[in-house]
Amino acid sequence: MDFQLTDEQRLISETARDFADKEIFPRVRDNDRACRFDRELASKLGEVGYLGAPVAEAYGGRGLDYIGYGLIVEQVGRADSSARTVVSVQTSLVAGSIEKWGTEEQKQKWLPRLCSGEALGCFGLTEPDTGSDAANLRTRATKTDSGWSISGQKMWISLANFSEVALIFAQTDPEKKHRGLACFLVPTDSEGFTTQEIHGKLGLRSSDTGEISLDSVEVGDDAMLGEIGDGFKVAMSALDNGRYSVAAGCVGICEGCVEASVAYSKERKQFGVPLARFQLVQEMIADMILKRDASRMLVYRAGVLKDEGKPNTMETSVAKLYATESAVECANLAIQVHGGAGYVDDYPVERYLRDARVTTLYEGTSQIQKLIIGRAATGENAMTPMVES
Ligand SMILES: Cc1cc2nc3c(=O)[nH]c(=O)nc-3n(C[C@H](O)[C@H](O)[C@H](O)COP(=O)(O)OP(=O)(O)OC[C@H]3O[C@@H](n4cnc5c(N)ncnc54)[C@H](O)[C@@H]3O)c2cc1C
Repeated sequence: MDFQLTDEQRLISETARDFADKEIFPRVRDNDRACRFDRELASKLGEVGYLGAPVAEAYGGRGLDYIGYGLIVEQVGRADSSARTVVSVQTSLVAGSIEKWGTEEQKQKWLPRLCSGEALGCFGLTEPDTGSDAANLRTRATKTDSGWSISGQKMWISLANFSEVALIFAQTDPEKKHRGLACFLVPTDSEGFTTQEIHGKLGLRSSDTGEISLDSVEVGDDAMLGEIGDGFKVAMSALDNGRYSVAAGCVGICEGCVEASVAYSKERKQFGVPLARFQLVQEMIADMILKRDASRMLVYRAGVLKDEGKPNTMETSVAKLYATESAVECANLAIQVHGGAGYVDDYPVERYLRDARVTTLYEGTSQIQKLIIGRAATGENAMTPMVES
């Protein structure tokens, strides 16, 4: 067992940290205040190879392993969870699914443009009436002579308003339940495909989030990713990778909270001494370090299993559950260390709290992660009436 990063991994992490400090941090506060999705930043992420890091070089990616990918995501997440959402959705949910399930033609068509950031993609699983119970989709795909006609609604879809392609999960035969689900690569300029921005989010204010309406959207047979009945497996394999990415981003939030709190506690004086001298302040910093380090180790464990091609659903859920809850707790503690100054956006800690909050909801809520872990431990599926995959 080796707890040290290799020289190459350290370089990946340091380079990503440098990029985050120079290119992301300077924009974060203005973008957050303006609730502005920064398309230019998304392009820059693509230019440096952060939008398809684990995708094979032959398709425009960097061919990195999962540990390397996680190190990049951690640094982007330390700077800005909205930018990290672009990396996670584009890489783990969209490009990763196309690489794993796509035909050669689909890969050639989409992957190079997604990895370079020229095109963005979104992952359309959730619907107004279907969240945690992801097998129970209402969106329908009906067979036509030349392909499929898709109708339905998608809700809470990251990057919906800026994407060129959407992975749309739809039911082809309601009687078959999850075995009738299919995933389609739908160009967003298709007739009948419309989006609407969702406003008023607590955090992730510079991440784009939208609703998608599909009104008899026609696609060819070649738009299907995998086969009829693969839709649920495509979604679950994407979420296994997406959860790893969310967890790695949350390690970055924990790290950011520690760094901001240590710096502030040394600079701010009360009772004639720096805050850092107070044991109760040190206790808060120690608690953050504990959560950061434990989260990081759990992310590394999941990453190593992924790199070895071993089953890792349970370990990825453990990492996601622990790292996301830790990010919320660290951000809350970091605000406490900053006192009143932590309540406004002169410091990053209030944004860390607002941004961390969604990570315990999306890509499977904390309750769903616990049910996945419990199912792995006991062999009993307590998510009933969810159907087994
Ligand atoms: C900012 C943002 C971005 C998002 N981006 C995307 C995206 O890009 N693509 C996408 O497809 N989706 C996306 N989502 C949707 C997200 O994945 C869902 O919100 C999430 O899966 C939860 O579904 P829900 O909101 O319908 O909550 P519900 O499923 O209605 O859950 C509500 C509560 O009930 C609990 N609950 C539900 N079922 C059970 C159970 N069996 N046992 C115990 N408790 C249970 C949940 O844990 C939760 O506490 C995004 C959401 C947000 C807020």
